Amino acid sequence: MHVAVFADIEGSFGIWRMRQCRMGTREWQYGRSCLTDDVNHVIHGAFDGGAERVTVKDIHESGFNCLVDKLDRRAQYVGGHFINPTFFGDVQNYDLMLFVAIHAASGTTDSFFPHTHYGIFSEVRINEKPVCEMDIYGAYLGEFGVPIGLVSGEDIAVSQALSALPWAKSVVVDKREETYTSGSHSVEYLSEGRGKLRAAAAEAVREASRMKPLVLSGPLHFEVTFRAEKLADRYNTWDFDQEGNVVTWDADTMIEGFEKLNKITFFPKSIYPVRRQMMFCMRVLYRLKNTYFAPKPNPEGATVIG
Ligand SMILES: [Zn+2]
Repeated sequence: MHVAVFADIEGSFGIWRMRQCRMGTREWQYGRSCLTDDVNHVIHGAFDGGAERVTVKDIHESGFNCLVDKLDRRAQYVGGHFINPTFFGDVQNYDLMLFVAIHAASGTTDSFFPHTHYGIFSEVRINEKPVCEMDIYGAYLGEFGVPIGLVSGEDIAVSQALSALPWAKSVVVDKREETYTSGSHSVEYLSEGRGKLRAAAAEAVREASRMKPLVLSGPLHFEVTFRAEKLADRYNTWDFDQEGNVVTWDADTMIEGFEKLNKITFFPKSIYPVRRQMMFCMRVLYRLKNTYFAPKPNPEGATVIG
């Protein structure tokens, strides 16, 4: 069985503030080590559960967050974003996906760094229902036949995800600063939490046959609310229907709908023809930058485990 570990960062153990998720900061350099630890425990769990092959897919921002030289060597690593065959690369040979360190949907109150797909949206709805990233990514990957078997992150993020993926295993991660800056208590919390990640990953792999690809049956009506009308004007270079700060479009499948979401999020009409080359250059640039030019970590008083 080929298991993919998809890594976001906001919902990682050890992370409690936004700067720890912002590429290029010293705090993010600390956040990267937290995420890498989480991912390693999930890799370990996947092998415990019987995976024959594990691939890590890094998805946050530029898609190069994990500290590759600290990742479990048994896993392959895929960083950055793609155009073909999917935005997440070659997903068709994955049998199961485990989603690590997720966050809540745009518009969720009292949650850590809530957003859906990108920070420009204050809400994303499909067929009138507000959705989180697991609804979108899950249903996109679902159309390629790949189920999600595990989610980890803040409690609200996990419960939003589980409403679409009731079969998935889950691990809840605390987002309070004091949880990670209290010496031996923090060490205990971290090792217990990551132990749960490992156990839940193993369980998900063992029960892989019960995990279902998420499929939303079409037609799908997408509705995104931009944080400001100016943003909607700037990003909607595709002349999708727009009223004020709300942009809408229809799609028969999630693959088509997600492609359109990416058009208004990342690919203005003018650069669309060269998006492949652009993505390739970005993968090379960020791989080099985040590998060789990373700043020194600033853990800001967090208890760091060796
Ligand atoms: Zn993220």
